[in-house]
Amino acid sequence: MKVLVINCGSSSLKYQVIDSDTEHVLAKGLCERIGIDGKMTYQPAGKDKIKYDSPMPAHRQAVELVLKQLTDPETGVLSSVDEIDAVGHRMVHGGEKFACSTLLTDEVLKTVESFNDLAPLHNPPTLVGVEACKELMPSVPMVGVFDTAFHQTMPPEAYIYGLPYEYYEKYGVRRYGFHGTSHRYVSRRAADILGKKPEDLKIVVCHLGNGSSISAVDGGKCVETSMGLTPLEGLIMGTRSGDIDPTCIEFIAHKENLSLEEVMNIVNKKSGVLGISGISSDFRDLDEAAKNGNARATLALKSFCHSVVKYIGSFVAVMNGVDAIVFTAGIGENDDIIRSAIIDHFGYLNTKLDPAANQMHGEERIISTPDSAVSVICIPTNEELAICRDTAEIVTKKLVEDAVKEVLSK
Ligand code: ADP
Repeated sequence: MKVLVINCGSSSLKYQVIDSDTEHVLAKGLCERIGIDGKMTYQPAGKDKIKYDSPMPAHRQAVELVLKQLTDPETGVLSSVDEIDAVGHRMVHGGEKFACSTLLTDEVLKTVESFNDLAPLHNPPTLVGVEACKELMPSVPMVGVFDTAFHQTMPPEAYIYGLPYEYYEKYGVRRYGFHGTSHRYVSRRAADILGKKPEDLKIVVCHLGNGSSISAVDGGKCVETSMGLTPLEGLIMGTRSGDIDPTCIEFIAHKENLSLEEVMNIVNKKSGVLGISGISSDFRDLDEAAKNGNARATLALKSFCHSVVKYIGSFVAVMNGVDAIVFTAGIGENDDIIRSAIIDHFGYLNTKLDPAANQMHGEERIISTPDSAVSVICIPTNEELAICRDTAEIVTKKLVEDAVKEVLSK
């Protein structure tokens, strides 16, 4: 089955075409600056990347261009759009309704829309992307894979906030968690690498990228995660503050004469390691600046590691043990200095990093020593593959059900 995987942001659209039988990526790319001027990047497997400008006033035109590119007689990988058997959409917020991926029926889409309040920055663009695909491929089944779904197994004591209960009941104010597709993929892959069943393992997954989150996966199920009602809570991130005393918001608004919205913009977009260092949200820039003696870059990196260490330690306590600590995403996969600084704190758990194994970027590898009591593993995340797998599984099941129904109706 050929699956088109779509990940829509407010002005961008990432796409991949994956053959679900071989799990080979046939082509991938990115539409950027949608609604501005429109930039297309396209890479067919094994061939050079192509980049060009093309007007994309809205997501519909971006999807149109993706389909045109994929079926281009010279550089395309499909002979026609009919070759696309299913579309898998990365969805952000599924509230409490979606604990797993689902077929995107009109009813499901209405329910997802009702969560727009909970994720005003992230949910609406994904729905726009689904609508554009529905218009252009009306007979192709679509599946939604939610960032929040994997965390739905958290027990109430982990997801409830210490606020009046009525806000949970009336508005759904609680911890949801994000990056769930990555946490699920990576924790299952870790079990494969260790040759064990997920049910027999306690794993802490550290998804450290532009946005960062940590989750505790006990017996294959998420029992805790660091992000909350929105992706703002938890670790110090690239530009997000992570955990702060909520009073800081009122205090800064008052002192700087700013509105609530303005301060929220600062804690989301101008804080984190960017805010502390005053230099960059990119860890490559910070590693370089710290090497050159920049004190605030060093402080930013140390604060980031400190927040990761605090969360890992508390999640080990929540699970009453740990078999594996897994690193993934841009920083987790690539930054050996950060990995080493974090794992240095777990000597008390007899966890030992193998410095030679840790000297690598972007590989799947066990980076702890053979005698380490806790396995430390680096696993490149692959959310697109996880979306493709769920999509193929759900669509195949639906096709079988439809075929059975047809036979029975005769
Ligand atoms: P996103 O949340 O946007 O998907 P990624 O998982 O791609 O983010 O992570 C992006 C971040 O990864 C960059 O901002 C950068 O800080 C970090 N990163 C990427 N490559 C390296 C590297 N070689 N060394 C250190 N940090 C890196």
